[in-house]
Amino acid sequence: MRKINFNAGPAALPLPVLEQAQRELLDFQGTGSSILEHSHRGPEYDRVHEETLSLFSELMGLPRSHSPIMVQGGASLQFAMLPLNFLPPGRSADYAVTGHWARLAYEEARRVGAARAACDTAAPDGKHSRIPSPGELMIDPRAAYLHITTNNTIFGTQWRTLPDTKGVPLVADMCSDILSRQIEASRFALIYAGAQKNLGPAGLALIAVDREWLKTARTDLPDILTYAVHLEARSIYHTPPTFAVYLVGLQLKWIKANGGPAGMEKRNTEKAELLYGTLDRLKGFYTAPAEKGCRSVMNAVFRTPSPELDDLFCAEAAKEGLIGMKGHRAAGGMRVSLYNAISFDDVKALSAFMDAFSRRRG
Ligand SMILES: *Cc1c(COP(=O)(O)O)cnc(C)c1O
Repeated sequence: MRKINFNAGPAALPLPVLEQAQRELLDFQGTGSSILEHSHRGPEYDRVHEETLSLFSELMGLPRSHSPIMVQGGASLQFAMLPLNFLPPGRSADYAVTGHWARLAYEEARRVGAARAACDTAAPDGKHSRIPSPGELMIDPRAAYLHITTNNTIFGTQWRTLPDTKGVPLVADMCSDILSRQIEASRFALIYAGAQKNLGPAGLALIAVDREWLKTARTDLPDILTYAVHLEARSIYHTPPTFAVYLVGLQLKWIKANGGPAGMEKRNTEKAELLYGTLDRLKGFYTAPAEKGCRSVMNAVFRTPSPELDDLFCAEAAKEGLIGMKGHRAAGGMRVSLYNAISFDDVKALSAFMDAFSRRRG
């Protein structure tokens, strides 16, 4: 029996996507070979590749000025590639340090060049519970770019409105909320996301870049680290992770068939309202540290009165088929990830469990 999987990433995939992959695994669309076995230069894979790129552009609502790119190496490679390409000597880049991944992105940039924290929302215990207010975000008007993490996967906070950068190029790590809601892609110079949260399996990062901005990038880097090289090669500069690209393509089709980003936003908002509603109703037992106006629709972080009860919560939930809720070690407690593939009914089952657990143990 399949479990209800609240893992933060790699995360649940829509069942129809897995079923289609299973049906096609041995013989991809009558070609007599698995998609795993096709050449990345052959016409069969090429169709899959192009379709994935164009569906990504379409669903992201990319304006004509922006192009999609796919690169291996996950989001962490993007932490390095971004400053390598766009942070030349003599310039400085701004980072909004709002969580664990935001800090890693910032620290990686500091290994490459001059980077500055435009804000740091860490409390003295190292935990983050909020998104900065506009007045708190000190953007250097000469910064090469401002980097934000639109959804803080580990601490469960999310940017609801984008900062006004007054012309400084805006770059976003959207790993954990990409295509979970509608966005205005034209506001961003560059967007990147590892696929393994909302878009598919691990092994691939999806990027959207403004080609005018790309013209300002360094050109003296190794090819493999140069966005322009990947763009020029239509993301087949070398062998792409073909199976991951295929699965992302299937998931993008599933997102499209379920109303696109608008449909996802509606579905995700309903799920989050149910879960946070449960947490608020049971607030004598559960504590949710994220500030209310900053709560993530994708990752809800909470805890019970003790670490022992947290462990028991996860253990008893697992017996009922609800898995993947142990919080990240940096945050503790529980984390429930409500990515696109999670249904409202999945959250209903969790909400009922939370009720019952608090009555049993409260
Ligand atoms: C998961 C995650 C990452 C790291 O992704 P990798 O693909 O493992 O490198 C980076 N940023 C955010 C916001 C994440 O959620």
